[in-house]
Amino acid sequence: MIVIDEEAIFDEIRRKEPVSVALNGPDGILPKIQDTASRIMEKFGIPAYVLADSCFGTCDMNTNGAKVLGAEILFHIGHTINSTSFGDNIVLVDAFDNISFENIAKKCIEQFMGKTVSLVTDSQHLHEVDKVKNILEHGGITVKIGKGKGQLNDGQVFGCEFYPVMETRDTVDVNIFLGQSNFHAAGIALSTNKPTYVLDPYFNEVRDVTEFAQTLQKKSILAVYKAAEAESFGIIVGLKEGQFSKTTALKFKKELESLGKKVQLFALTDITDDKLRNLKDVDAFIQVACPRISTDNHFHKPVLSTPQANALVKILKKENVDNIFQISHWL
Ligand code: SF4
Repeated sequence: MIVIDEEAIFDEIRRKEPVSVALNGPDGILPKIQDTASRIMEKFGIPAYVLADSCFGTCDMNTNGAKVLGAEILFHIGHTINSTSFGDNIVLVDAFDNISFENIAKKCIEQFMGKTVSLVTDSQHLHEVDKVKNILEHGGITVKIGKGKGQLNDGQVFGCEFYPVMETRDTVDVNIFLGQSNFHAAGIALSTNKPTYVLDPYFNEVRDVTEFAQTLQKKSILAVYKAAEAESFGIIVGLKEGQFSKTTALKFKKELESLGKKVQLFALTDITDDKLRNLKDVDAFIQVACPRISTDNHFHKPVLSTPQANALVKILKKENVDNIFQISHWL
């Protein structure tokens, strides 16, 4: 069950006495955020708006939504990073999952005994890492926890940022991800090129995501080679504040034009196939927002992420391409 650190929210409201607040977080915990918003309104008698648009990370906090509403504080819940605030008006609030990994950790010992593993997770299960490490070590497994960097804590990954597992990848046999997210685990498998398993405490199962990751990789590489045949490109700047990268878009425009390609520029908040179907005279797209939009979704034309577009430029220049995704940060 997800538990939101409501006391941190209430303390902040007592301290700053805002006239209204806004709250948001990942889709999966929106019902909990609704409860928290209701409690704020009851307790403090101020409006508490739930920003209910999808929100995938601290790269996607919808601060503009809070600003338009006139909310004096935006509580961004459930994407723990190694900092608690983003300027004066944004407060990052922990939401942790209180499910125990004890059973699944004990269950996996036979499978990984004698191996060296990199233990990693997402923000909601970070507090379980040390407990699982102890259980695995008692079972004869050598455990490494890679160092965080940027916004990442030790042993934590985002869907596009993999510093801890990249640090350990040459010294471990496999990666073990704590949680339920095949999305995060597949990213870990792709960046490290190592077998990667999910320890899922809800289904009490050890899940191998290596093959799933390879399928994503094949699809992504195919899109790059299809895009290499394109004559006209649409380059899309994402308008979510933490995914905004106009400089990268203009860099690709310059490179493609120097290679004789036609380029149009677009800007979108949500990059979906439906939106792209409205646009004419484009053979292939490059989007420089969230890289997982390209790797994990289906589009009717190639839609390349930044690492895929880097590979495309190399192919067009007849340079060698290898290991598109084996980098610590896909942006
Ligand atoms: S994977 Fe996408 S949503 Fe997640 S942190 Fe990276 S850019 Fe943001």
